[in-house]
Amino acid sequence: MDYTEIITEIYNEVRGIKERGKVADYIPALAEIDPSQLGIAVATADGNVFGIGDWQTKFSIQSISKVFTLAMVIRHIGDEIWQNVGREPSGNPFNSLIQLENECGKPRNPFINAGALAVTDRLMRLYERPKEDILCFIRQLADSEDIYFDKNVAISEIYHSSRNSALAYFMKSFGNIEGDVETLVDIYCNHCSITMTCGELARSFLFLANRGVNPFNGEEVLSVSMSKRLNALMLTCGFYDESGDFAFRVGLPGKSGVGGGIVAVIPGELSIAVWSPGLNRHGNSCLGIEVLERFTTRLQTSIF
Ligand code: GLU
Repeated sequence: MDYTEIITEIYNEVRGIKERGKVADYIPALAEIDPSQLGIAVATADGNVFGIGDWQTKFSIQSISKVFTLAMVIRHIGDEIWQNVGREPSGNPFNSLIQLENECGKPRNPFINAGALAVTDRLMRLYERPKEDILCFIRQLADSEDIYFDKNVAISEIYHSSRNSALAYFMKSFGNIEGDVETLVDIYCNHCSITMTCGELARSFLFLANRGVNPFNGEEVLSVSMSKRLNALMLTCGFYDESGDFAFRVGLPGKSGVGGGIVAVIPGELSIAVWSPGLNRHGNSCLGIEVLERFTTRLQTSIF
């Protein structure tokens, strides 16, 4: 199937929308991004990519990287990770500290910042060269060598990482972080800073539309069951305290990042990445959600 027509139609409709939210400015390097950009790319398991607008422009994937780090950890230790992190929606903002105290330093899920820090802490102990290994993992999934950290964004985030450091130290006080917090925050901020295009991002999520198998090299990245679980976590927790509304409007597992990217998957069929830097109050791309809602509504396909 050729998705060019449907994404072109949707692109032309939504680019006229004035209410686009605000770019993330708590990471100063992200505050400089031009908010008028919009890109859409669809990747199908047979290797085709259909794109429109700014789909070949690199942007900071931010929290979307949390899906890759979780995949890297569960493929090694499987269910053991659930000793450190829960798997329930948090109903709280992505960087909230509140629940952590009541729940003894165990984050609700791997996609809020606290949960992702706990996952990265495990990753640091499983991989000898965590930063290089993260890049290598994503490059294989996207079938592209052209994927790097954005040092400018990483440094900007590290300079403004008080809240993430607080989350990590707080969890360490409960014994739920083992590594050195500065090293942990450095690796975490670097993986959040990775830049990709919509085309690369859509390709890199195809394994989750393909029962855990990387369609570019045939490698089993995750078992069928782990891939099901990762999709389930994206559906229930991928959009912070807007996860329920995303499921209601779009009906697909997906993940957002404060760089304005959203990637979603129709299992067995395709993955779709949308990028528009303006965010709503939950930290999710305004136009990104709008595009995806129109996409599944028009295709009459979702997981439901
Ligand atoms: N790097 C961001 C942070 O730690 C990730 C948040 C996001 O993309 O939602 O705040």
